[in-house]
Amino acid sequence: MTDDPRLADIIQPGQEGNVVLLGFPCDDGVEINGGRPGARHGPEKFRSWIRRYGTIDNPEMNIDLSGLSIADAGDIPADLPLDQSHTTLTQQTASIIQKGGIPFVVGGGNDQSYPNACALLDAKPDNAVGVINIDAHLDVRPLKNGQAHSGSPFRLLLEDSRFAGGHFIEFAAQGSQVSREHTGYVRQKGGHIIWYSEVSRGDSAAQAFRNTLGRLAWECDSLFVSFDLDSIRASDAPGVSCPGVMGLRAKEAFEMAFTAGIHPKVDLFDLSEYNPLIEEERTGRLAVGIFYHFCLGVASRREPS
Ligand code: MN
Repeated sequence: MTDDPRLADIIQPGQEGNVVLLGFPCDDGVEINGGRPGARHGPEKFRSWIRRYGTIDNPEMNIDLSGLSIADAGDIPADLPLDQSHTTLTQQTASIIQKGGIPFVVGGGNDQSYPNACALLDAKPDNAVGVINIDAHLDVRPLKNGQAHSGSPFRLLLEDSRFAGGHFIEFAAQGSQVSREHTGYVRQKGGHIIWYSEVSRGDSAAQAFRNTLGRLAWECDSLFVSFDLDSIRASDAPGVSCPGVMGLRAKEAFEMAFTAGIHPKVDLFDLSEYNPLIEEERTGRLAVGIFYHFCLGVASRREPS
């Protein structure tokens, strides 16, 4: 090892670890939803930025990642039809959870989040599962011609009889980007919406997120945190299909990722919509920073997961 080891230096190939990276290199769901394609290159570029970012022993936070085992399970095959990609994703994510790891799934389109939620429901059928979607949008649009897409994952989840709508929270949604009808749909299903204007009111959205995660954890055994990069303001995250002029700050995103990582009930995390064709470096470093801070959080859990 060098005198300055980075995150990539401790990642081992395989399906077993405390945190297991899995790539979903697919943007068909973005195209079906009318968005700009390119997120299929997200996992590949994400891995290239891991080599440049994230010291193993962080002297500022006083957290050493060298005791954490981080694995890379590779990508879901890129050439499958969309429904088969989703089925394969569910199987692989569930397999990682069953082996005791926390999957960190990098997209790809946000349509990955329903297959990922299914993996947690499959792997822990006796657990009450809670889901937080950090997103400028609600992603509860109906299917298009019977097909799932990047705007529909949480409608599919709320329609799933295994899932209780009361355990679903939309975090940092923006009223200028979501319809009245979809807002009503989420609430009618028992879900909660915490608007961006509410989370940005105090010192930091990270504190609002910590409170929200803590409240959901009271009611649930197992939590899934789903993070769409388009919830972050475009000046920090330009490389997404639908950049938002306002939104979360990079610092808040990192604090939220740490908060998710350290919480003992968070069993699954996914990161969606990194589109390196629109912008590669700033958004790539941000995406990897979210992964890094999640790992710092997991390394700080009181009980090893
Ligand atoms: Mn989304």
